[in-house]
Amino acid sequence: MTSTELRSAAANTRSATIETSSAELVLDAVSKSYGDNLAVREVTARVPAGQVSVIVGPSGCGKSTLLRIISGLDTPTSGSVTFDGRPVNGVPEGLAMVFQDYSRSLFPWMRVERNIAFPLKHLPSGERKQRVREAIEAVGLAGKEKLYPWQMSGGMQQRVAIARALASHPRLLLMDEPYASVDAQTRAELEDLLLTIQARLGITVLVVTHDIDESVYLADRIIVLSTPPSVVAEVIDVNLPRPRDQVTTKEDPDFVELRAHVTTMLRSTDGRATESR
Ligand code: ADP
Ligand code: MG
Repeated sequence: MTSTELRSAAANTRSATIETSSAELVLDAVSKSYGDNLAVREVTARVPAGQVSVIVGPSGCGKSTLLRIISGLDTPTSGSVTFDGRPVNGVPEGLAMVFQDYSRSLFPWMRVERNIAFPLKHLPSGERKQRVREAIEAVGLAGKEKLYPWQMSGGMQQRVAIARALASHPRLLLMDEPYASVDAQTRAELEDLLLTIQARLGITVLVVTHDIDESVYLADRIIVLSTPPSVVAEVIDVNLPRPRDQVTTKEDPDFVELRAHVTTMLRSTDGRATESR
């Protein structure tokens, strides 16, 4: 376990410290059937500690199913998941999840600070308050503590959801299409926020998306899923320099090539494994 310091991700806020550590996740031949429908067929993949891994694949290919299995909310029909060297049976300690639909993950009758504090009820009040303060600063929401979610834009609400995840000091952060419901500008800001926070905390991050640009922009490693019943079509290590930048990274010839490559992979009808790059 490593501990790192977080300097606030928001440029104009005070520095904050969030104790955290990272851990590796391994999927071993994970399959999932719903009745006769084989949704996921033997997905084997490694999500290295302290990196950003992205699962990309077409709609309906089993991305959310995989995240539910990883988070212990569902069980595989066969195969196994290990986190930090231990088999996942039930929600693992140190895991936090951010969903696409922030309007359903936040309580509309609670102010921002209470929404973030809600999962921390077991902690002494002093520590709870400190964690909430740090998480709010990390996502650049200082000054917005007293607002209700419905008084905020979609992007701000998703920041609240991210702050709530961070306040639990996760070692593994799972995100299911986290930015699919916000506009393009906000999406870019939230992508950068995630990368800043990840770099400072060293958390293991696994993002699910169907957006090819987003997958290449965020990832150290892309896990491309085929059409269902899904298998891993390819694992791509992305060595684009960090910190990444919405303009210069996306102009980088390596980015352009990777984007074309992933697009071609997803276009191929059965997506079955091809030569690794
Ligand atoms: P994705 O997130 O990639 O869009 P999902 O994981 O939501 O895909 O779904 C993969 C497949 O599994 C789909 O065919 C979907 O209909 C099916 N599926 C997902 N959840 C359930 C469920 N609870 N019961 C039955 N079928 C499901
Ligand atoms: Mg989904």
